[in-house]
Amino acid sequence: MRRFAYCKVVLATSLVWVMLDMFILLYFSECNKCDDKKERGLPGRDGGPRDGPGEGGKPVVIPKENQEKMKEMFKINQFNLMASEMIALNRTLPDVRLEGCKNKLYPDNLPRTSVVIVFHNEAWSTLLRTVHSVIDRSPHTLLEEIVLVDDASERDFLKRPLEQYVRRLEIPVRVVRMEQRSGLIRARLKGASLSTGQVITFLDAHCECTIGWLEPLLARIKQDKTVVCPIIDVISDDTFEYMAGSDMTYGGFNWKLNFRWYPVPQREMDRRKGDRTLPVRTPTMAGGLFSIDRDYFQEIGTYDAGMDIWGGENLEISFRIWQCGGTLEIVTCSHVGHVFRKATPYTFPGGTGQIINKNNRRLAEVWMDEFKNFFYIISPGVTKVDYGDITSRSALRQKLQCKPFSWYLENVYPDSQIPRHYYSLGEVFSYTANKEIRTDDLCLDVSKLNGPVMMLKCHHLKGNQLWEYDPVKLTLIHVNSNQCLDKASEEDSQVPSVRDCTHTRFQQWLLRNVTLPEVF
Ligand code: UDP
Ligand code: MN
Repeated sequence: MRRFAYCKVVLATSLVWVMLDMFILLYFSECNKCDDKKERGLPGRDGGPRDGPGEGGKPVVIPKENQEKMKEMFKINQFNLMASEMIALNRTLPDVRLEGCKNKLYPDNLPRTSVVIVFHNEAWSTLLRTVHSVIDRSPHTLLEEIVLVDDASERDFLKRPLEQYVRRLEIPVRVVRMEQRSGLIRARLKGASLSTGQVITFLDAHCECTIGWLEPLLARIKQDKTVVCPIIDVISDDTFEYMAGSDMTYGGFNWKLNFRWYPVPQREMDRRKGDRTLPVRTPTMAGGLFSIDRDYFQEIGTYDAGMDIWGGENLEISFRIWQCGGTLEIVTCSHVGHVFRKATPYTFPGGTGQIINKNNRRLAEVWMDEFKNFFYIISPGVTKVDYGDITSRSALRQKLQCKPFSWYLENVYPDSQIPRHYYSLGEVFSYTANKEIRTDDLCLDVSKLNGPVMMLKCHHLKGNQLWEYDPVKLTLIHVNSNQCLDKASEEDSQVPSVRDCTHTRFQQWLLRNVTLPEVF
């Protein structure tokens, strides 16, 4: 059992001002009327001169006179479609691997993979460049097939022209259609169920695989219960320049359950004895690109089919893999590029926030135990969102006898923004076992005496961010200055500060039901 019970802290609402970057910035724009795209998407460009635009992963520069047109076209997919259409579908790319990866040898008997690519209203050029890069840069003996799952796109060129085009490729490519818009989760489930390879490799529809990307993934999967991701390189949404991603970052998440990249911690470097060509254990995956053994995918419960459209599924599968006895890794010798967009081009039926909140609630309710409250307190209103029926997912957790979320935080993600130990968690902040007053990665900090306190990035060095709670006097003492947190006793001050401990009612903070250790 947890030592520190969840409880509600009532910290004055005057502190609300410090809550920063409150909203998940998700933009979307209507794309239902993008059918003028039709003519542009026609097949044909699958080869180009080796000094053509974008070759070698070089950026494409659009001449001045076409800038207006370029901006218009950008809106269709939220990337530079004009640039993409200038680039050959089989352009060359640099070999961005670490030197130590280039001559690694892999067994002959690697499992074969199906590649499943789901798409909704994808551009012709990016979709087919993904397909060509898979075919051109994978040993065909390892490639079972490619399955393209059309999630009810509204583009004519993605119908018959697509089917005709892929028919002539040297690897079997199937095009499967969802009857109605279902979202990437259910579309991937459909693709997975119709595919036949021993391994399933999921890719987004705007990727480019580089030389040697597949072998190290498959080699790693031969080891039981390991789910693997390549390093995701960046294809610029502006220029389509190919930029190598870092082997020094791995996946995490914050209180809002946003996936984020963070530096690979020292402990993980040490575990690999400094060999950067060895796979990195990662707490979470970005979501779009990974390989998994087909039987293991089944065994751990595929995806949560109750999740809609987009979002949350990557954390859900990450938590599930780790908590239920698997391993999630980034294979640093495998590089696949992905067009990262700043905005979403398509609609989210029912509303973006609503859908993402629902998906996130499902994963929080099933996998995060009491730590779900960190998500709930930082996302006002989220608890009002209906998350549907989760009985089968909870039953799955039971059946697989998965470990608690505290185990995950302790053993897989000790550097998480969510503190493993906390004395209390309230409407605004948590009071952690490190005696920080903390929300997400921000800590209450006193850098100026008698001035307002501020939320600054947690440095975990105690110092200006160390607070002692006195459960009798109900004061929060800033240890360094021996002053008390004061919620603006002077009328002209709107923000809290630290002042001499006079223990007036302005310095009393109620951490209700808090169970503090002996030292208090
Ligand atoms: N996708 C889909 N149906 C949807 C939303 C997305 O098939 O309702 C596909 C999309 O075309 C892409 C993949 O799912 O191939 C991931 O979506 P996206 O690239 O927009 O996500 P991001 O990479 O921005 O996280
Ligand atoms: Mn994507």
